[in-house]
Amino acid sequence: MKRGLAYLMLFYESKKPLRLKDVSRKLNVKMPSALETISRLMIKGYLQKVSRGCFEISDEGKKYVEEMMWRHAVLEWTFMNKLNIQSKDLCKTVSKIEELIPLDIIEELCEMNKHPITCPHNIEAPHPGKSRKATAYKYCEI
Ligand SMILES: [Zn+2]
Ligand SMILES: [Zn+2]
Repeated sequence: MKRGLAYLMLFYESKKPLRLKDVSRKLNVKMPSALETISRLMIKGYLQKVSRGCFEISDEGKKYVEEMMWRHAVLEWTFMNKLNIQSKDLCKTVSKIEELIPLDIIEELCEMNKHPITCPHNIEAPHPGKSRKATAYKYCEI
């Protein structure tokens, strides 16, 4: 998982604001480095400050995280079923490229895979515009 996404997942899963020192401890990074990444994610609008040293994920951040989960599922299916690639590192590879592929291509691949609601590892994935099955989703990491 990319660094920014790992931070966002932590906030997404916690469902409550997190303090800088908790983030630093949970991700095993030094506080200044955690603050740097958090600041970068705030500039992007994915995190917001709750109070001094305390942050939470924004709606925009949740949307981003869930879009990545959907992209991840679509690409995993594409590689496995359409390209017949069975590499055990598929999940890791997909993590590296999922963000880079233009949305219209992901949408086409999604269509090609009949709009999957789980990834090939049976982890539920959100689909933009479809009714939600879960209140929070997990990011596939096999
Ligand atoms: Zn779709
Ligand atoms: Zn998966």
